Parts: sequence; structure tokens; C-alpha cells
Amino acid sequence: MRLILYAILAFVIYYLFKGLSGKGTQMPRRRSEQPPEAGKELKMDPVCGTYIPEDTPYRLRHKGTTHYFCSEECLKTYKKQIAEGKTE
Ligand SMILES: [Zn+2]
Repeated sequence: MRLILYAILAFVIYYLFKGLSGKGTQMPRRRSEQPPEAGKELKMDPVCGTYIPEDTPYRLRHKGTTHYFCSEECLKTYKKQIAEGKTE
């Protein structure tokens, strides 16, 4: 009986940590887990992991690669990361 309780406790702790971990202090955002629709190219926001259409106005070309963002906020965060040398 005791072992089962420990197993449940471990399970609960695991899920708590899983829910808390991720993008640091950033607010959790709604993520699109669905596969891209046919005919519409979706790009992943490197900051928050959201999938956005390629025609987003929030883009940044950096070292030959175009990065796409869901919002100005993420674009700014990415620019900051570049400035701090936290990204390639
Ligand atoms: Zn974003």
C-alpha cells in the first residue's frame, strides 16, 4: 500500500514539474500542436514555440535565416537574445 502511495506522489510531482518547467518566467502561451495545414506554411516562433503563418508581419532576418514571431513582444525578446549572444 505504501509503495502505491509513493508512486502516486511521484506521479503528481512529475506532472507538477512538467507543468512548471519550460520557458522560464515567460507567461505560458497557447500553442498550436496541430500539423500545418496544406497550402499554408507555418513557422515556429523560436521564442515561445507557437506556430504562425509565414505572412506574419513580425519577422527578423538574421544571419541568412528568417525567423517568424507571433507578436512584437517575441520579436523584441529574440532581438534581445541576439544582442546578449544567447542565440545563434
Ligand atoms: Zn511568440
